[in-house]
Amino acid sequence: MTRRPPERFDVIVIGGGLTGCLTALRLAQAGAAVVLVEQYDIGTQASGRNAGSLHGQIQHEPFVVEGEGWAREWAPCLGLLKDAIAGWHALSDELGVDLEVRTKGGLLVADDPAQMPAIERKVALEREHGIDSQVLGRDELLALAPYLDERVVGGELCPIEGKASPIVAAPAIAGAAAGAGADLRRHTPVRALERDGNGFVVTTGRGRLAARRVVVAAGADIPRITRMLGVDLPVEGPPMQVNVTEPVEPLVGHLVYYAGGRLTLKQAAAGSLLIGGGWPARTHPVTGRPAVDLEGMRRNLAIARSVVPAIGGARLLRTWCGVNNATPDQRPIIGPVDGIDGLVVGTFPFLGFTASPVMGDLLAALALGRAPERDLAPFSPGRF
Ligand SMILES: Cc1cc2nc3c(=O)[nH]c(=O)nc-3n(C[C@H](O)[C@H](O)[C@H](O)COP(=O)(O)OP(=O)(O)OC[C@H]3O[C@@H](n4cnc5c(N)ncnc54)[C@H](O)[C@@H]3O)c2cc1C
Repeated sequence: MTRRPPERFDVIVIGGGLTGCLTALRLAQAGAAVVLVEQYDIGTQASGRNAGSLHGQIQHEPFVVEGEGWAREWAPCLGLLKDAIAGWHALSDELGVDLEVRTKGGLLVADDPAQMPAIERKVALEREHGIDSQVLGRDELLALAPYLDERVVGGELCPIEGKASPIVAAPAIAGAAAGAGADLRRHTPVRALERDGNGFVVTTGRGRLAARRVVVAAGADIPRITRMLGVDLPVEGPPMQVNVTEPVEPLVGHLVYYAGGRLTLKQAAAGSLLIGGGWPARTHPVTGRPAVDLEGMRRNLAIARSVVPAIGGARLLRTWCGVNNATPDQRPIIGPVDGIDGLVVGTFPFLGFTASPVMGDLLAALALGRAPERDLAPFSPGRF
């Protein structure tokens, strides 16, 4: 029996999260014949399970734990995140959909004077890299955010930060990609990826596809795909959890972080409070899937309440988990893979919701063989 020849495209995008959908959108708009394959439904993994924070500052915990040397190497990410947040604003207009992008600013809150020197050093580094963050004294902080606990001693304002809706984003972007001509194949897991002359053949659960170029945007599953071509990349998938309360009256206008422990706290457009900050979930011993860690949930909520006491009256509705994507140096991997012409990989660890508009632009440009305007050397897949 002869095998049917594979369907041919210019580019195959593997992964239907925000990274993949935005890449497919930009490729289709550029006139490329693009097919996107997603093993489940669009935006159901990290891109649909995250907390929707738009981050534009160096995260405080790694700054303190990993140190300033790490932060200096990570700092090229700041320009990318800044452009990505601008990209979120532009996307709402471009798609004609309210992606609930609100950027009233992020507040990193200290309640111990000993926390302030690290914040001051972090702000100085951010400013060196074009982020207009500022150190705030206690009175300035409380004037901006009177909902904070009286014990605060100061903090940081990062004015570009805020939130967008992960629930609205991926379906809206996927719809736009399909409208622009991208062929989106849901429930189409990639089973094999092979070289075929100077291109690739991808075997999926629903037939074979061929293209000159492949973009791997499979988040935490990137290594599983690239290993099919003998390429090992150190991307991991730590399970994490987020909490949401019932809707309450407008209370928290900013994206609030805490310098003394893990916290992100913000209020969605519908009024619910989203409480997270990188709290690990556990792995269920039977299913092997992420499951809520109750002790982590309790501690996360306790921190949130200590920083913003007024949220204590809001009832918790739900805690959910997702698999994040991580790299050893917390920098993204963006670029062509050395030695495999036409293979492009893209993942932005931990802050990939924020980064996705720029990730889509960059990966599409690389897949079209165009030189991106941004220096991608710090993000090269070959650095490991
Ligand atoms: C709980 C949680 C909270 C977070 N909070 C935030 C936040 O507030 N702000 C922020 O900026 N970031 C946040 N993140 C990180 C952010 O969600 C991710 O970095 C981002 O969504 C990654 O997008 P992606 O498209 O690259 O990957 P994903 O969304 O994971 O998409 C990859 C897709 O590839 C598919 N795939 C994998 N293998 C195959 C295969 N073999 N065949 C076909 N398809 C395949 C997967 O099914 C998946 O849909 C959070 C993450 C988690 C888990």
